[in-house]
Amino acid sequence: MSHTEQESAHEALRRHFASRVANQVRNLLDRWRLLNELKWDAASFDEFERANEKLLRQAARFEADMQLRKAMKIEEIIKQIRAASEPASSKQITELAMLINALGETAQRRDDASRPAEKTIPLRKPVYLAIDPDIAEKTSEQMRYFSIDAVVVESPEALLHACSTRLPSCLVVDVDFSNQNAGLDLIEQLQKNRHEPLPVIFVSAQQKTDITTRLRASRAGGVRFFPNPNISQLIRSVDKITHHLPDDPFKVLVVDDSRSQSLYAERALNAAGMITHVINDPLDVLDAIQRFNPEMIVMDMYMPGCTGMELAAVIRQQPEYINLPIIYLSGEEDRKKQLAAMSQGGDDFLTKPVDPHHLVATVQNRGQRARALKNLIVRDSLTGLFNHTHTLERLHQAQAIARELKQPLVFCMVDIDIFKKINDNYGHPVGDKVIGALSLFLKQRLRKTDVIGRYGGEEFALVLPNTREEDALHLLNTIREGFGKLEHSADTGGFNVTFSCGIAGFNGSNDEKMVEQADQALYHAKKNGRNNVQLFVDQE
Ligand code: GH3
Ligand code: MG
Ligand code: MG
Repeated sequence: MSHTEQESAHEALRRHFASRVANQVRNLLDRWRLLNELKWDAASFDEFERANEKLLRQAARFEADMQLRKAMKIEEIIKQIRAASEPASSKQITELAMLINALGETAQRRDDASRPAEKTIPLRKPVYLAIDPDIAEKTSEQMRYFSIDAVVVESPEALLHACSTRLPSCLVVDVDFSNQNAGLDLIEQLQKNRHEPLPVIFVSAQQKTDITTRLRASRAGGVRFFPNPNISQLIRSVDKITHHLPDDPFKVLVVDDSRSQSLYAERALNAAGMITHVINDPLDVLDAIQRFNPEMIVMDMYMPGCTGMELAAVIRQQPEYINLPIIYLSGEEDRKKQLAAMSQGGDDFLTKPVDPHHLVATVQNRGQRARALKNLIVRDSLTGLFNHTHTLERLHQAQAIARELKQPLVFCMVDIDIFKKINDNYGHPVGDKVIGALSLFLKQRLRKTDVIGRYGGEEFALVLPNTREEDALHLLNTIREGFGKLEHSADTGGFNVTFSCGIAGFNGSNDEKMVEQADQALYHAKKNGRNNVQLFVDQE
């Protein structure tokens, strides 16, 4: 290995592991949210501690000093809580909340754009397959292409044993596993003593299932029921249930001139796993919105200098913040005044003293709806990927960042090979499923900071920030090979699909030029016989 090769290998490793630490932080955040949701019950406290221990190990191993220091402090507080015979004090909870909040910001910061496209993160827990042995092995093999750790169990006893050694993230069970209704009996037995049921996807070889069986399945923790399922259906549902990573926590800006009031709101929101930023001077609001990029604002109604209503009006004058939810907090009980405030661009009105649960529920509601609305505007409905227009906007932004930070950037066009034939041979719905499969495949293999868009029918566009052309070439070739091995199903049997890809690097040119160059490279890839990836090379 040459010196530079060694260096870049080391760098790649370091960045790869930095993402591991960030994922572990997200996991800890999720545990913290659950801990508070479940009112600090012993089991979730154990889980929280375990998540922190894992973060400690990863942060130490991969030299993430800041995360290591915070995790050590968290560990210290956990020890104190364990040593005392009483429940955690409010001081301890506040300290934990602040540490978690600081950690959360590191996992959010967009500097994870600096890592190269990582391999998929394997699911933390396995998925057990208790289904017809004739299809079990094949199903588990296909699932592995999607980084799902599927384990085939051969008998009801084997399933019980597996669950007692290691809990799965979900189960796929035939209602008639080994015997009529035996799968159902088995799951009922398994769920009986569980505090929270394990999610189960039930399948059945019968075309039709009576309502009694479906009811039993649903009561036994069945979240989906597939009569006569195909593998891609199963993969999609397992992926949905196990969600590779927990959702990003909400980012909330708290604007209140009173330090104690803002601390109160901040603590309630942090305890629910949200990330907060507080400003006590209302005149800082525009600056804070720009820097912190919140998804929501919780704002005091009466502050010195200006009222919440006036502030909201100023915020709303900027088109990009028109949908940013604003929740007012105030001692105002006069309904008329409340209504007036809402008409000034507020979305909700909470009266002080506000119950923390009420505050959290309102923020969560608003946040979810704001996210859903945003998704409707920028996403494609079949795949959930960014649509054409939004993808190009993101390319434009990425170019500005690449220029400023003097980082490389690539744009890729991916086009499924002879897709028309797939539609012709198997029908349009099967074609749609192939598009869905490629979309999921790409999502799982690219970084969070990469942009994946559905550019057109069977065309995808990727924006990969801080990535060199050679690395993109290597990555896309790996993805191409993996995708080619995937078996898609149609009534008449299985088939394989390939894609071609064109890649253009950023050299200071504008976005239209980059798209055109990627398109040219794609054309070469097709001419080269398809199932091929090409870099754009300037002929001049
Ligand atoms: P090539 O390898 O040259 O890309 O061949 P191709 O057949 O993939 O390319 P072409 O662009 O000729 O055909 C694309 C086909 O994709 C035509 C269109 O009917 C189909 N298509 C476009 N959007 C969708 C969609 O959303 N669902 C399905 N099922 N088919 C689609
Ligand atoms: Mg095409
Ligand atoms: Mg095509």
